[in-house]
Amino acid sequence: MQYISTRGAAPVLDFEATMLTGLARDGGLYLPDHVPPMKQSEIASLAGLSYEEQAFVIMRPFIGTAFEDDEFREIIARAYAGFGHPARAPLKQLAPNHFLLELFHGPTLAFKDFAMQLIGQLFQAALKRSGQRVTIVGATSGDTGSAAIEAFRGLDNVDVFILYPHGRVSDVQRRQMTTPSEANVHALAVDGDFDTCQALVKDMFNDFAFRDEVGLAGVNSINWARVLAQVVYYFSAAVSLGAPHRPVSFTVPTGNFGDIFAGYIARAMGLPIEKLVIATNQNDILHRALESGGYVTDGVKPSISPSMDIQVSSNFERALFDAYGRDGTAVAQLMDELKSGGGFQISQGALEFLRETFASGRASEDETMATITRTAKATAELLCPHSAVGVHVAEAHLSATPMVTLATAHPAKFPDAVEQATGTRPALPERMADLFDRPERVTRLPNDLAAVEAHIRENRTA
Ligand SMILES: *Cc1c(COP(=O)(O)O)cnc(C)c1O
Repeated sequence: MQYISTRGAAPVLDFEATMLTGLARDGGLYLPDHVPPMKQSEIASLAGLSYEEQAFVIMRPFIGTAFEDDEFREIIARAYAGFGHPARAPLKQLAPNHFLLELFHGPTLAFKDFAMQLIGQLFQAALKRSGQRVTIVGATSGDTGSAAIEAFRGLDNVDVFILYPHGRVSDVQRRQMTTPSEANVHALAVDGDFDTCQALVKDMFNDFAFRDEVGLAGVNSINWARVLAQVVYYFSAAVSLGAPHRPVSFTVPTGNFGDIFAGYIARAMGLPIEKLVIATNQNDILHRALESGGYVTDGVKPSISPSMDIQVSSNFERALFDAYGRDGTAVAQLMDELKSGGGFQISQGALEFLRETFASGRASEDETMATITRTAKATAELLCPHSAVGVHVAEAHLSATPMVTLATAHPAKFPDAVEQATGTRPALPERMADLFDRPERVTRLPNDLAAVEAHIRENRTA
């Protein structure tokens, strides 16, 4: 299996190099050169297997010769051993034809653990073999950074530096980043907002001397290995509802389009997914794009579902690549228009392609709160605000086909909104009940590239 860039002008890579590289050198995103199909009988035989065994079967064709089967099985086992639920991704029923896929039983209580825990183990195995050392640098508005730190803490050959906007993440999110005591973990509170942090990270990747000196690596949501890990739970959920003999639809609370794009890959592999419904909050660029064909950026409006507050949805580029018949030059041109003019028009043919697979909807802040209240009354399920955006949008798309809404974070990660909506303050799971007693360790830095680079250079352990 080879990986190609959505902009058609970067080197073709194998799985391991794609994972370690992250962003392609032409600015594009890597994708497999073909999606390996699964036979209906192979999908049927996933029923009854453990989550880990399903993960092995589904991901195996994508990794080529990167790992021996036994080693890959061990990597998967280690990745999911720290989850607080034996099913890993349990399915709950909300209504006769509406199900909730709980993806928040990982160590940081958000679905990003599914990908990040696996990536941590994959990096460790690959680096051990090559003797290479890397420095992972990432920007976060909260969930990505904590998931990355949790995945890489204490691993050999890796340092992880996470930049977050000082004073702008929740207490739970901050403490998940500042309380790990391992020397290879570095939480950096930057004076500025999320865009400041992201711009600093981008500048570090573009500073090629620094990039090579510290062995910079990225694990943000455009990393193909993260998308791949997320393909698995679409299969596990669909199979437990009767796939491949019965089709299923999914509604996905969406920001950077990584999670829902994993569903697109599952569908391309042959999983009978009828519709993939994009659920956005008031930052609804994707919903508007699907309705009108105009992909036009607008300022970010902070919401109660902050992990979906995005201006530009990076992984959407992967869907556009297929929608434009895998024409990298056409995609590169759209991305240039986006950069220079703040938007672009999707061609009629590409729009029709996208609408065959995707539907969309948005939830306002009031609709999100009302959904948390209503769902708690009807089912006793406490939804986090992101999951509530999903449930609200899903309810407008119910049909005879079972609908699965992805619950992307644990309610205790966003306790204020949940308490306001339901009167119940959700408690942290037992295994992290002492989070607020652990000592914090964090370095505050100005919005200054030289200062951040100097700090990283001087504090790496690898
Ligand atoms: C990251 C995140 C999302 C959005 O996921 P994308 O892959 O960026 O679309 C939704 N909900 C929560 C809780 C998240 O952390």
